[in-house]
Amino acid sequence: MGMIKTLKFGGTSVGSAANMRRVADIVVSEGARLTVLSAMSGTTDALVRISGAARGGDRETVRETVEMLREKYSTCIDELLGDCRPAARDRMEETLALIANETFTYRGEVSDKLILAQGELLTSAIFCFHMQELGYRAVLLTSPEFMHTDPEGKPDTGRLSGELTRLVTQTDAEIYYIAQGFICTDAAGQVSNLGRGGSDYSAALMGVAIGSDEVQIWTDIDGMHNNDPRVVERTFPIRRMSFDEAAELAYFGAKILHPATIQPCKEAGINVRLKNSMEPQAEGTLISDAEDNAMDFHAIAAKDGITVVRIASARMLMAYGFLRKVFEVFEKYRTPVDMITTSEVEVSLTIDSTCHLDEIIRELSPFGTVEVERDNTIVCIVGCIDYQHVGLAARIFDGVREVPLKMISYGANHRSMAILVATEHKKQTLQALNDRLFDSGCCR
Ligand code: ADP
Ligand code: ASP
Ligand code: MG
Repeated sequence: MGMIKTLKFGGTSVGSAANMRRVADIVVSEGARLTVLSAMSGTTDALVRISGAARGGDRETVRETVEMLREKYSTCIDELLGDCRPAARDRMEETLALIANETFTYRGEVSDKLILAQGELLTSAIFCFHMQELGYRAVLLTSPEFMHTDPEGKPDTGRLSGELTRLVTQTDAEIYYIAQGFICTDAAGQVSNLGRGGSDYSAALMGVAIGSDEVQIWTDIDGMHNNDPRVVERTFPIRRMSFDEAAELAYFGAKILHPATIQPCKEAGINVRLKNSMEPQAEGTLISDAEDNAMDFHAIAAKDGITVVRIASARMLMAYGFLRKVFEVFEKYRTPVDMITTSEVEVSLTIDSTCHLDEIIRELSPFGTVEVERDNTIVCIVGCIDYQHVGLAARIFDGVREVPLKMISYGANHRSMAILVATEHKKQTLQALNDRLFDSGCCR
């Protein structure tokens, strides 16, 4: 028996009939045990728009957007399917009717999530018909039946592995199992999701649950690049990278991976391969426990929407106990802190969730003066940035010598430095670092 593989395909990869054909080829040639699919590109955004418009009573936008989806999916069905076309069209009409119905009998949060789930459900159903028409035994699973989250939104991995391994039983027969990424059932028993871009995370969890040897994330680019290709010119794919580095880059904004994807695979020791479905022959990126120490600097990522909170203690004598008090406030409001710098009586830290900012400021105020700065970006540089390797920090600072730096975080580990800049300086910062830290056009 060959390797057990779990393959995930993102929105662009399943974004048209032609692309779905390519996905089927890949699924078959890789011998995927489990295939996890996102919704066709643009679908989830459209569904978000529909539920937003419904909430605002904007029936016209709802109607137009449902029509746009009908057009998109019927084109795909017509171009892709033969005998299964009527069944797929029925399935599509059921989905659109459900969306319209949920929208106009709007009950809030619950129907919202149910609407968002329809993209993955419909896309995977169409793809499964295609696999069956090609003559393969393809089985469509329903992810909310085995992907459950707790009241904090954390997936129940024990339950997942029990229930999914029961379903994915045919190990040697040529059966292709197809599941939806992104969607789940929440603690209240309602259909929900793992957050935007969450299909990568679904695939990682499911891949671990069925004991895969490898999880492959197929997307529209040839692997993890050394910098954000949407912002910077002359980026290049990185061939190998460690779990920790990949997790750090994903956490600090490398959109190619949902930030939670790496952890389950790292814990289970399962390699993650990033591949380009538009160019299956391209090497992609292999993420494993192997460290790459060949280069000083490996990659850069950026995370927007960062808010700085600066607290200056009124009393010098609070020097100890001060940090604990400050952090207790963030803990109370379940607000994670990303960067932190301290002096004897001041602490500055960054958060990316401002849901409870008002309460946080109110509770911090008795400790001293509190200042808030919005619209910042954390730029994270990863590599072998060890303190013994003299001069690396100087190269980073030389690269950003023309950028106002608001915070610097260095020394927490041996592989990264993070700097905070105003978002208006993000592009300049990323490009300057790219030009200074990497030989342009360099490819490993
Ligand atoms: P999918 O729909 O397949 O999940 P995403 O759009 O979520 O695809 O992620 C792929 C995109 O991530 C790429 O097209 C690229 O623009 C963007 N991206 C951002 N940073 C990086 C990076 N460091 N390396 C590769 N791609 C990146
Ligand atoms: N379709 C979902 C989204 O657009 C999940 C994903 O693509 O990973 O966020
Ligand atoms: Mg994605």
